[in-house]
Amino acid sequence: MSEHPSRLVLVINCGSSSIKFALVDEQRSGFVLHGLADRLGSDEASLRWQQGDGTTSRQERPLGAADHRQAMEALLPMVREHAGDRLTAVGHRVVHGGEHFTAACQIDDAARQAIEQASALAPLHNPANLMGIDAATALFPQLPHIAVFDTAFHQSMPAHAYRYAIPEALYAEQRVRRYGFHGTSHRYVTGEAARMTGLSPTDSGWLSAHLGNGCSTCAVQDGVSRDTSMGFTPLEGLVMGTRSGDVDPNLHGFLGRTLGWSLEKIDAVLNRESGLLGLSGLSNDMRELEQAREQGHDGATLAIEVFCYRLAKSLASMCCALTRLDGVIFTGGIGENSPLIRARTIAHLGLLGLALDEEANQRCVRGVAGAIERTAKPHGAHLTVPHNVHILIVPTDEERQIALESLACLDAESQADIHADIHADKQTDRGF
Ligand code: AMP
Repeated sequence: MSEHPSRLVLVINCGSSSIKFALVDEQRSGFVLHGLADRLGSDEASLRWQQGDGTTSRQERPLGAADHRQAMEALLPMVREHAGDRLTAVGHRVVHGGEHFTAACQIDDAARQAIEQASALAPLHNPANLMGIDAATALFPQLPHIAVFDTAFHQSMPAHAYRYAIPEALYAEQRVRRYGFHGTSHRYVTGEAARMTGLSPTDSGWLSAHLGNGCSTCAVQDGVSRDTSMGFTPLEGLVMGTRSGDVDPNLHGFLGRTLGWSLEKIDAVLNRESGLLGLSGLSNDMRELEQAREQGHDGATLAIEVFCYRLAKSLASMCCALTRLDGVIFTGGIGENSPLIRARTIAHLGLLGLALDEEANQRCVRGVAGAIERTAKPHGAHLTVPHNVHILIVPTDEERQIALESLACLDAESQADIHADIHADKQTDRGF
């Protein structure tokens, strides 16, 4: 047993009308406390929370017309009661760090300003994240507040992966480039995959597929992101719940000319009416689509086929970013729970020598992690990879990753302070 009590981090994920929170113990899985304040800014704001590992029932309390600050105030006594003096930091999820942030950082005036500047790139998300930061720093002024960015993990991408083939001035002046998102999740699951397979995170290559309402793939070599499917915005890449993913960029001009649609209308259609919902004409929810497919619904069947084919195509193309492939990882609500989607996707990747163990595939659902690859070489495979490639189900845990990155950031800063002090002492010794 460690003689030091384990540290707790309050993780805050703030949306425009909601605050998701989790109290994370660095040494224990699950949450000490977690919950959601939502409908903030309306007359029906409410706070729901649950203690520990979910054995206690979920509790709820109306918050009237609370705003972010008032919701945070309602949380405060609860957090104090559960954390006592072990609360070490507040970790804030921030969606966009632009090119400024390549790692988590402690929030001071300069960092806050840089997050505000990156709002131009994420106008729906960063202002909401800042509301959470302002409310929490006012209520916990004595604690360090750390920002953990969705984009930071992908700042390691090489220019040939992040640049678009458009005039250079658009990059230099407007910062138009590929940023990538879901970085916290891709980082967490690839680290866990290395741990599960006994490989070193800094000497292994992974393809990760985060499949939730938003979906993205990522190529992670030796612990760093080398490419990812989302780009300047989270619209690029895969088919998602309501987002189209990649379309021909000329589509905008065509829709404007032939239907008279404004850019706002086209944005709304591609972001909120497309993807699984648009293709199926039925739903953006994969569970509902799987049921409809069972009953012979053509739209649902097509939506699932397009989803899986495009996902497989993205995974195959991501191989270009790796020097070796140790495994393909499925995570997110769909990746963690849908044997059908995993099987349909892997069926397109036979040329990589990938094949599923169907029994293991069925078993890994509802939070069960594990390897689901068939170990024997599949019949008819033309190309084989030089060693066994795993197919892994790894439940993501973005809150834990945010907590661990927050603590790592604090530890690195205190190490840097110690080094600076030693350096200053040495200089004093030398009479400087
Ligand atoms: P997330 O954003 O990670 O919560 O994921 C949401 C997506 O996961 C939705 O499309 C859900 O339909 C999907 N999902 C959750 N459970 C299942 C399941 N058992 N089978 C298929 N899809 C699921």
